[in-house]
Amino acid sequence: MHLSLALGATALALSVLPAQRRITSPKLAFGKKVGADKFLANYTQLTSYWKTLEAESDRMTLEEIGKTSYGQPMLMAIVSSPANLKKRQRYRKIAERLCHARGIDRLMADQLADEGRAVIWIDAGMHATESVAAQNIIELTYRMCSRNDAETRRILDNVILLVCPANPDGMEMVANAYMATGRVGGLPVLYQRYVGHDNNRDFYASNQKETRAINRMLYRRWFPQIIYNHHQSAPRGTVIFTPPFRDPFNYNVDPRVVRGIEIVSAHMTHRFARENKPGVISRTGAPYSTWWNGGLRTTTYFHNMIGILTESFGHPTPRKLTQALNRRLPYGDYPMPVATQTWHARQTIEYLQTANLAILDYASRYRKELLFDIWQMGKAAIAKGRKDHWTVTPRLVAEAKKRKDNTAFTDPELRDARAYVLPADQLDLTAVRRFIDRLVACGVEVHRASADFGAGFARFPKGSWVVLCDQAFRAHVRDMFEPQWHPDDLGNGGEPVRPYDSAGWTLAMQMGVQFDRVYDRIQAKLERVEDVGVDAGSVTDGSAGWLFTHYDGGSYRAMNHLLSLGDRVHWLRSRTRIGGRAWPAGTCFVENRAGGARRVRDLAKRFGVSFTGILKRPPSKLLEIRRPRIGLFDVFGGNMPTGWTQFVLQEFGFTPKLVFGKRVAEGDLRKDFDVLLFCTGLPNLSQRPRSRRPVRISDATIEKLQKALPAFEDWSNISDRRVVLTKSNALAPLEKFVSGGGTLIAIGGQASAAIRMFDFPVRTGTFVDGDGGKPRATNRSEFFIPGSLVRLAPAKGLMLTWGVQRNLVGMFRRSPVFEATEDSSQGSAQVAVRYTKKDTLASGWAIGTNHLHGKAAVLSMSFGAGNVFLFGPDMLYRGQPDATFKLVFNAILGGPARAE
Ligand SMILES: [Zn+2]
Repeated sequence: MHLSLALGATALALSVLPAQRRITSPKLAFGKKVGADKFLANYTQLTSYWKTLEAESDRMTLEEIGKTSYGQPMLMAIVSSPANLKKRQRYRKIAERLCHARGIDRLMADQLADEGRAVIWIDAGMHATESVAAQNIIELTYRMCSRNDAETRRILDNVILLVCPANPDGMEMVANAYMATGRVGGLPVLYQRYVGHDNNRDFYASNQKETRAINRMLYRRWFPQIIYNHHQSAPRGTVIFTPPFRDPFNYNVDPRVVRGIEIVSAHMTHRFARENKPGVISRTGAPYSTWWNGGLRTTTYFHNMIGILTESFGHPTPRKLTQALNRRLPYGDYPMPVATQTWHARQTIEYLQTANLAILDYASRYRKELLFDIWQMGKAAIAKGRKDHWTVTPRLVAEAKKRKDNTAFTDPELRDARAYVLPADQLDLTAVRRFIDRLVACGVEVHRASADFGAGFARFPKGSWVVLCDQAFRAHVRDMFEPQWHPDDLGNGGEPVRPYDSAGWTLAMQMGVQFDRVYDRIQAKLERVEDVGVDAGSVTDGSAGWLFTHYDGGSYRAMNHLLSLGDRVHWLRSRTRIGGRAWPAGTCFVENRAGGARRVRDLAKRFGVSFTGILKRPPSKLLEIRRPRIGLFDVFGGNMPTGWTQFVLQEFGFTPKLVFGKRVAEGDLRKDFDVLLFCTGLPNLSQRPRSRRPVRISDATIEKLQKALPAFEDWSNISDRRVVLTKSNALAPLEKFVSGGGTLIAIGGQASAAIRMFDFPVRTGTFVDGDGGKPRATNRSEFFIPGSLVRLAPAKGLMLTWGVQRNLVGMFRRSPVFEATEDSSQGSAQVAVRYTKKDTLASGWAIGTNHLHGKAAVLSMSFGAGNVFLFGPDMLYRGQPDATFKLVFNAILGGPARAE
């Protein structure tokens, strides 16, 4: 009955539609249905199938939105009715104008919403090993191009659908590896060139090429009202997680976003129920919240967009779906439990089409409302930024509780800023430019002053950057400048509930950019910044050479460049007066040699660094730096912090080489390296030996991988990557390396591992007095910092802190806390950076910061003829904190340097 009705509708539809050419099915194209057992299409297949669809159907057109990190073209499909596709530039413009909301009154918004089309973004495959989810967009585009039922036609008429494979490189590698070995995991590298799974942690920072391309589509080009981001890790025993999400949500986000998520999700879960598809779980079923910014889905909230995430179950090889006993009884967030069964990927594909269609159906029915709502949110954001407004944060509520009245909510001292100004005369302009570039990449309107101006009591020079808060993306602006004050989220036993991701991340603080808050209207000549260029630095003549600052991130690029050309670069070892001006310790000095003037002029232009010529060599003592041979330790399968480190080092002109277990175990490391950097790999001696077993992957599998994987990397060394470091194969070679003059750097958990392995005189951890006065480690209720920014106090006069600003924060997440002790034979540790003794939490959430007060965050140790540098906080956190990069850069350049 049901079937014949459906057929009837299709027949009717066909009779009124103009004849469309036959549309090739995926089955015909690949010889397999999408989601067939033991089959994954790779990105090359997806691309060629999409090109077929584009040629055969007048409902789809392809656009290259950028290149991937391995250089593949990144495609996006635009799907709509033929008539809409012809007018797509007009509809794009309508979406943009309504989203920006500037200069659009209610009547015009109503008219534009009436004329426009809902723009919906659907992506998949970002986490490439979540392999079935990635396949689903092939099925989606096929259905949209081939079907002629009433719903499909209504969707095509009312919606412009953007479909994007979010990680083409990963899709190619995972599909090829699976088809060759039958394993979805087990790649020798990360599935995104540098950052693997962290590709979904990059969206306000826009470090990776894929992120940049997607952000451009979302926030500068198409302005979709709903974004649907597919993933594939369903909570145990369920088929799919759908929103709504658990608390907390972020107080900067418009409430219409929160309600919008609910209504779209309700439409989705309701459709699952109507189609009799069980196993759909929401809200409390998973840790996903709307607090954090930075994921593809979550950054949308700060742009007034409805971001939807699902996490489905599936595997190309049929797997058992086992219903756990604690999920047998239906409850509000899981009303329809699924029975235990063998699960095929094709079933996942069908579920994901239900979810896709639910969103598209909703958008086609509420097209006008979606367009009007995004205007309303933009308008509200502009209005808040134009007058006095108080964003209610946990801090503001706490202040009101302290005052025992409501005056905090109208206290002019506590109101929101109307603008943020980044003065053009600050120490690290490279960081400022990189920060502005990231705002612009996320669609934020940024201006530059074309003349000096004043605001309040402050004066700002020409060229200062101004970010006004009366803009549609005000929530994102505030989130990038202001601390995140995460509400206390405590479980029934009073213990903290871990947030989904970081609790605090304020990008302006991480990057160390200086800014002023302005609370009144700014009167200045402003020009819109579309692309952040480089203002060339100045160069003066000098026969002996040139001095340049250590404070600007661009200086590291200049230093690395000069060293690569064979120039001699030094750091001043103490504060020195030269040419009537005092230069701080750490100031860089490059000697003049043939063509020197031309080279520094070129660098001044490229990196925005100024060079001051001098007539005589500096009178103070110098530290000559050499081009370091950097070994960055990596493991089989890759490691995200290692990948981020590689990425950041390359961004600043360093040339790290990946080193694997086999090479370390071979010894004689000084032959090839000056610096060895560990973000992973050192044996954790506190763990049971079981977890330190070699990687179990057979030679036969390796051979298959070498043949099947695309030529993105040199795969000849896959075997070398398998050797796991242990105390017995690593300690002697590493000790010899350091004592023979090498520099060893260990970050985060690797610092603790190094301390144990080398038996350094350092205690790690946080402690309270336990039974009988014996210290015991703190528990979660006593000390808990889930990814937050803490204030750091760099020591004065140490090489490691040259060029580092005093006002410094660091990302604390699973970071070891150090205390130097004196009961060891291995020399003594010098504290280079401490946690501050008060106001230690800068942004995020922290319990028991007193356990950090005054403790060591960074240690430096001399060891034989070499050096060891240990970093507690995540100094290179996801490629964001330019301010703390310098500590690591100094260790890399300064560690191997020799005093003259
Ligand atoms: Zn995922």
